[in-house]
Amino acid sequence: MAYVIPQPPQSALPVAGTDDSFPVRRVYCVGRNYAEHAIEMGHDPNREPPFFFQKCPDNLAVGGGDWPYPVASNDVHWELELVVGLKEGGTDIPAAKALDHVYGYAVALDMTRRDLQGAAKKMGRPWDTGKAFELSAPCTAIHPASEVGHPSEGRIWLECNGEIRQDGDLNQMIWKIPEMIEYLSGLFTLAPGDLILTGTPAGVGPVQRGDTLHGVVDGVDELTIKVV
Ligand code: MN
Repeated sequence: MAYVIPQPPQSALPVAGTDDSFPVRRVYCVGRNYAEHAIEMGHDPNREPPFFFQKCPDNLAVGGGDWPYPVASNDVHWELELVVGLKEGGTDIPAAKALDHVYGYAVALDMTRRDLQGAAKKMGRPWDTGKAFELSAPCTAIHPASEVGHPSEGRIWLECNGEIRQDGDLNQMIWKIPEMIEYLSGLFTLAPGDLILTGTPAGVGPVQRGDTLHGVVDGVDELTIKVV
């Protein structure tokens, strides 16, 4: 059996401190998971059920560096997020067992074409054009939980050109990571290689060409991109 077109490359994250790779199957993202960010986007910060969208595995831009301003938008925003990587999947995973399914953690930017997302929201259309575009998910290496634990608190912060723009704490997540896995596994069959971007704290804003973004989740990793 031969493929009739070139086989797409397997998306993967490097495993920090090793020559190994973590193959990526799906990239789930949770929306409005920090109350202050829900408020800044004009929504109710109360605990509504979580909602999810996806980026494509080949949207990952591993390791940061120069990041080309995307096509078709004039309002591209940063959203700094903690990433969870699964080593085991399943359906209806109870929150109490959820962390047993986690391989490790990374730091990513959920880069967003806010103008396209806003137009889609207004028309009741899907968010894909705003969220799942080329290189829309700059991401660090993944750090095994055996090295970094299962972070549930710690500062998550982002500077643009040296000025602090996002400054939150992982403990401000409305839906905690085990709850998120429980909920998501009731909607989808999760599998090894799935990533979950866990939402962003307040302070999202637009990038311009020439800007340098530096995002840190204390105790996990940091990511720097330059918009070119
Ligand atoms: Mn996001």
